[in-house]
Amino acid sequence: MGTDHGRRRLDRTVLAGGVWRQGGDTDRRARFRREYARSGAPTRAGTFGEGLLGPTLIHFGTAEQQRRFLPPILAGTEIWCQGFSEPGAGSDLAALSTRARLDGEEWILDGQKVWTSQAQLSEWIFVLARTGSAAGDAKHKGISFLLVPLDQPGVEIRPLIDMAGGEHFCEVFFDGARTPSDLIVGNPGDGWRIAMATLGFERGTAFIGQLRRYSGEYDRLVELARTSGLTRDRVVRQRLAGLKIGLELMRFGAYRTITSLLGEGRPGPEASIGKLQWSQWHQQLTELSIDVLGAQGTVQSASWHEMQHAFIFSRAHTIYAGSSQVQRTIIGERVLGLPKGPA
Ligand SMILES: Cc1cc2nc3c(=O)[nH]c(=O)nc-3n(C[C@H](O)[C@H](O)[C@H](O)COP(=O)(O)OP(=O)(O)OC[C@H]3O[C@@H](n4cnc5c(N)ncnc54)[C@H](O)[C@@H]3O)c2cc1C
Repeated sequence: MGTDHGRRRLDRTVLAGGVWRQGGDTDRRARFRREYARSGAPTRAGTFGEGLLGPTLIHFGTAEQQRRFLPPILAGTEIWCQGFSEPGAGSDLAALSTRARLDGEEWILDGQKVWTSQAQLSEWIFVLARTGSAAGDAKHKGISFLLVPLDQPGVEIRPLIDMAGGEHFCEVFFDGARTPSDLIVGNPGDGWRIAMATLGFERGTAFIGQLRRYSGEYDRLVELARTSGLTRDRVVRQRLAGLKIGLELMRFGAYRTITSLLGEGRPGPEASIGKLQWSQWHQQLTELSIDVLGAQGTVQSASWHEMQHAFIFSRAHTIYAGSSQVQRTIIGERVLGLPKGPA
């Protein structure tokens, strides 16, 4: 990508693909990511806006939606959450039953979402809701993608305690919640296609910003193993080497994803390969961290809190954004073209 033209094209493409959004040129954004991760700063609060909704609006939103919502996402002044999963609809997302109907100039929503990360911290939620009836067996028909303000009487948010002891996610109840009629992304009933693109960003490109963080965690683990004298242990050395190879594979996979954005503009089903890789890789890294800590890793401690929390929370990596079983099915059927499994 030597020419200015090529570079500008890559800039626009990675922006639309949801890779970097801090403004400035590519080098500045890459430096920002590197320094942010190196500083050990917490995961950015605007993940769902920056990584999922922003690129979705760039691809499918109206000019007015882009003008209204992208600048505050970039500035971090409006935080978004993702209202997809429901008590009866997780892996089988098309089974969702939250409904929305038009009443004059507004959509009225009734139903419930669950596992909604950061809902209690968010101003807005992007919601999949049924606005038409499912056509026969095609449950994914009649679903729409709506943008809904959370601070209103028709919305109730109840935080759930996760097993790491935090309030990471919530239940969100809609009881006559309202949003303006033009805050629909795409056409009524076209939400499934748009949601699949959003999941592509979640699985494929939103992760790329995490790679620096993972690299830093790996370096800290090597240092811990060294100071504990465990780099002399052949099994520990082998596990560290396996993680290093995995890290490099993910790095090259990320380059491949960015390159593919130049063609399609957004990740396709192959985003599931990256999701499967990083979710399992990070679980293996945190397992080794706890093994290296030994007995002290089993006792709550401020010194090791970050590693202990990462170990417990990483259990969720292979569930959210689609479980590993679901990713394998997508890779088998939609990437490799294998025959469909039994329903
Ligand atoms: C930490 C965390 C944060 C989350 N944040 C959000 C969020 O912000 N917004 C949101 O909308 N959702 C969120 N989720 C929900 C997440 O997307 C769902 O948990 C996930 O899609 C799985 O759905 P489920 O929990 O209903 O499990 P189920 O779908 O009931 O699955 C249970 C088990 O059955 C397996 N299974 C199900 N169907 C199949 C199949 N067809 N083939 C093979 N195996 C199958 C699954 O792999 C899993 O092991 C979050 C989840 C977690 C853990």
